[in-house]
Amino acid sequence: MNHKSSSTKQNTTIVIGGGWSGLAAAVTLAQQGHHVHLIEAAKQLGGRARNVTWKNITIDNGQHLMIGAYHHMLAMMKLVGIDTETAFHRQSIDIELHDPIYPTLYLSAHHRWLPWPLSLAWNLCKSAGLRGLYHVGRIQSSTKNILSKKDITVSEWLLSKKQPTRLIKQLWEPLCLATLNTPIDEASAHLLAKVLQDSLGKGKSDADSLIPTRPLGDMFPNAAAMFIKANGGSVSLKTRAKQLIIKNNTLSGLRLQDGSELAADNIIVATSPSQTYQLLAEQAPITKFTDYPISTVYLQYAKHTRLNKAMIGLTGTLSQWVFDRSEQSPGLMAVVISGPGNHESLTNAQLVERVKQELQSYVDNLANAELTDSLVIREKRATFASIKNIEATRPISNSSVDGLWLTGDFIANAYPATLEGAILNGQSCAHQIIAQTSE
Ligand SMILES: Cc1cc2nc3c(=O)[nH]c(=O)nc-3n(C[C@H](O)[C@H](O)[C@H](O)COP(=O)(O)OP(=O)(O)OC[C@H]3O[C@@H](n4cnc5c(N)ncnc54)[C@H](O)[C@@H]3O)c2cc1C
Repeated sequence: MNHKSSSTKQNTTIVIGGGWSGLAAAVTLAQQGHHVHLIEAAKQLGGRARNVTWKNITIDNGQHLMIGAYHHMLAMMKLVGIDTETAFHRQSIDIELHDPIYPTLYLSAHHRWLPWPLSLAWNLCKSAGLRGLYHVGRIQSSTKNILSKKDITVSEWLLSKKQPTRLIKQLWEPLCLATLNTPIDEASAHLLAKVLQDSLGKGKSDADSLIPTRPLGDMFPNAAAMFIKANGGSVSLKTRAKQLIIKNNTLSGLRLQDGSELAADNIIVATSPSQTYQLLAEQAPITKFTDYPISTVYLQYAKHTRLNKAMIGLTGTLSQWVFDRSEQSPGLMAVVISGPGNHESLTNAQLVERVKQELQSYVDNLANAELTDSLVIREKRATFASIKNIEATRPISNSSVDGLWLTGDFIANAYPATLEGAILNGQSCAHQIIAQTSE
């Protein structure tokens, strides 16, 4: 890859980082005829949602679940030519949560004749009783009120609504970890309230589960790169930004790891919160975020092994969600463990053994299944911690330095770290640059 060593200003926007947010920004700019050059430090695109090769199969760096409410993500995927009908298994919400102590809880819209949301209420009532339904209703109906007041933790919210222990343990804790990747004692009630409003609080299709049918890199990143190139832009892999060149509060370019310099009118820093913190350093400081991990334990069972659902939830165990990934490799299960916890101190072998035992005990179809292989992927900095009051510290795209822009899942929006938030922010950042340059 040749980098032009130059201090001449070009009418170019450079995007640093080829995760979903940087790619969304670059796609939007390229579509509007702006010259864009995206650089990515890694050998592949996708960032925290990327392809990983394991033996001869392509899997994900971590199992992702999208929902019907990810409208920006779906529109962006369509724009770059992905057929969103076939790229996902789209199904009405149909979650069963197994627990060693409590009976299985159903968060499901499946019913022969009851319409949404009565179907959801009916299944909840059947599995958690009228009392359970009443308490879930209390939380759901208090989201607007929660959002209009000062932020509190999810625990404080649940306490204020006198939620029974079973619902906390079997529903709210796992839902909060799955969506905010943050334990309820620290998690922002505002962010969970927004997630509940946008998923369960709207039309039935917004609550749909979207499980990718292909590896994440093929869901958007690779097609986005082709789109950028087809629209006159360029994408450079294995190209690491080292330092921004800022003089008199105006950005003129950046220095790469190999010592060369690139000039640009605008630079979008589209790296993760910790990478952005390092890159901006004292030049344009942002708040330091806490990051929380997500581990995915891949268990390869005998080829004929299947779950009876696309995904199953577990509570009261280390394992939290089990996804049937037979589409990627027949008999492959992905077990997700979100957030910090005891699993972090286990070795990979210990973790696999523990997860295997839990699935044997609580997932019917896996009770006697033959395990042939396993892989643990620990993403230590999977997401920023969605803690109480986080919204006050999330930066905006338009920085105080002329020509310097920021995007990424952590830039201010109403959501926790999600692909939807990453895409939404990337698009919005690009639109702000377009608006400014057309003034
Ligand atoms: C295991 C796991 C499971 C998840 N599950 C879900 C889920 O189910 N649903 C959901 O919506 N979200 C989920 N997420 C969150 C989602 O993946 C992220 O919110 C999203 O991918 C963030 O994208 P981004 O573009 O903001 O940042 P990133 O993906 O972090 O992209 C930043 C990019 O910048 C590159 N980079 C860094 N430094 C430099 C440099 N100096 N020069 C050049 N390039 C650089 C990096 O290599 C990276 O490619 C999950 C995340 C993980 C890790």
